Amino acid sequence: MSIHPRPTDSLFAEPIARSHATDPDTSVKAAASMNRSGNARANLERVVQAVETNPGKTSGELEQIVPGLDLTEVRRRLTDAARPNRSGVVRIVRSAARKCRVLLTSQSTWFAAKRCKECGDWVAVCDECPCGGK
Ligand SMILES: [Zn+2]
Repeated sequence: MSIHPRPTDSLFAEPIARSHATDPDTSVKAAASMNRSGNARANLERVVQAVETNPGKTSGELEQIVPGLDLTEVRRRLTDAARPNRSGVVRIVRSAARKCRVLLTSQSTWFAAKRCKECGDWVAVCDECPCGGK
């Protein structure tokens, strides 16, 4: 497994009223850590599937689409899926930012990826490659 940089949590400060705000810190951490270590691959598949069926969503919007995954996990799996996997396949691509309907801040949007037949770059399925290829 590669090491990923930790997201800068302060940028994604959550609203005050949050249902789990009163949970003991340890149980929240335990749940999160179990989720991350055991199910990273399964979570990646769920996130990729959510992107494929909901093109152009932000991470905040995808968090609402994929039950049981928190925003940090959604972001990590998005980042993973946007890198080449062991077979060299890129599953999704990050696209232009816009205001997220959930977080109300500017966030990248995500699309399923396709490989340009001309240059081999990975581009959003709905876009033409900048090189002019399809
Ligand atoms: Zn191209």
